[in-house]
Amino acid sequence: MEFGFTKEQEKLRKELHDFYANELPEDISGVPALSKELQDFWMGLQRKAGKKGYLAPGWPKEWGGLGLGHIEVGIANEEEGYWGIAWPDGIGLHIVGPGLHLFGTEEQKKRFLPEISSGEKVWYECFTEPEAGTDEANQQTRAVKQGDKWVINGQKIYITGGYKPDWLYVEARTADTIPKHRGLTLFCVKADTPGVTVTALPCMGGYRANIFYFDNVEVGDDAIVGQINQGFYHVMATFEFERSNTAGAARAKRELQELIQFCRETKRNGKPLIKDPMVRRALAKMAIDIEVLRLAAWRTAWRFGERKRLGPLDFDLTGLFSRLNAMSHPNLKMDILGTYGQLRMGSKYAKLDGSIERGWQVTRSYHYAGTMEAIKIVLAGRVLGLPRIPAKLNTTIMKALQEKEK
Ligand SMILES: Cc1cc2nc3c(=O)[nH]c(=O)nc-3n(C[C@H](O)[C@H](O)[C@H](O)COP(=O)(O)OP(=O)(O)OC[C@H]3O[C@@H](n4cnc5c(N)ncnc54)[C@H](O)[C@@H]3O)c2cc1C
Repeated sequence: MEFGFTKEQEKLRKELHDFYANELPEDISGVPALSKELQDFWMGLQRKAGKKGYLAPGWPKEWGGLGLGHIEVGIANEEEGYWGIAWPDGIGLHIVGPGLHLFGTEEQKKRFLPEISSGEKVWYECFTEPEAGTDEANQQTRAVKQGDKWVINGQKIYITGGYKPDWLYVEARTADTIPKHRGLTLFCVKADTPGVTVTALPCMGGYRANIFYFDNVEVGDDAIVGQINQGFYHVMATFEFERSNTAGAARAKRELQELIQFCRETKRNGKPLIKDPMVRRALAKMAIDIEVLRLAAWRTAWRFGERKRLGPLDFDLTGLFSRLNAMSHPNLKMDILGTYGQLRMGSKYAKLDGSIERGWQVTRSYHYAGTMEAIKIVLAGRVLGLPRIPAKLNTTIMKALQEKEK
């Protein structure tokens, strides 16, 4: 399979490439925002890219985008991946924005979309709870209508973000229903609303997650996105946007190219690393894996352009391949670098700026946006048509496992 691009599309790629090449100092590309200085840098770049419409190229011009198609969006994502860009407002751009396009009121679109596409604001996604991760429908955070206000109480965990958020996209229980997922609603909550507090949850690799607490937080009806009690369906629809992107393969390809260059230039036992058959095999395996991921991502981008909604194969396949690579590639890279692989960024002896060690740490947590097991279950059931384990048998297995743990 080969994807060709039109002259116009190649022109767009060059325009974006040149913009980031000019704006990104070499030593910042691919480095997460670990300090205030880096955060200010990325916020500044986000605003600059927003002014040009590069943040949301697929959105209509009236909402601050460029009105481009899905292939062009795939190209823009590839460029962001190549340059190692993680926008401070990735959630606003890839979750909240598409959600508002699909389910928001005209008033909400006018209020929020231009702020997101111009890069002015930062949103966090507040879905996961201590008892509601894979089992997303098990939300315990409650929103109760009192007079003309909704009062929200509960706790959210593993909320990604090292910036100061302006808005929180919160999923909460608004009805006790069977099945559970029919009683959930989405709310836009201003992050400085009285009753919202946050504690940091530092993660491996230097990233920061957060725990948010909602203690009698009041919002109006205008905070609701979509329909009351339909939040679960809205979330599932917007997750399609989170999973279908071409950035991951582009980033991985660039990192592999840098590693190959390193192997050409570095000698071990008098011979360049690139001559070592074990190293060659590892490099070849990674190159093949990345190409498979790239093709799956482009297939999804192309299918997005063809259809309004996607099936599970389109986005879960990309998710599966990126997680498989996340599990195996850092180990292969560590093996190639030998003991140098364990040296951190900042160490004068670290190779490739310590990026291999940091990458290894970061990719230990590949549970974001659905775990490997959850993805496999979806692919097995909804794509391959394999039967589900009957509920009774499932209970028996769980009981046996719990007994074993005791
Ligand atoms: C880097 C990162 C960023 C994140 N960012 C955000 C964010 O910004 N906002 C947000 O709301 N959340 C965020 N999350 C949370 C993420 O969505 C959850 O971690 C994820 O949904 C899994 O939930 P859990 O951690 O509670 O694990 P659990 O659901 O408790 O799962 C634990 C283990 O059990 C397995 N398991 C669970 N159910 C089944 C089943 N039925 N069959 C087989 N196996 C099963 C899982 O696959 C997993 O291996 C982030 C997570 C990570 C790692």
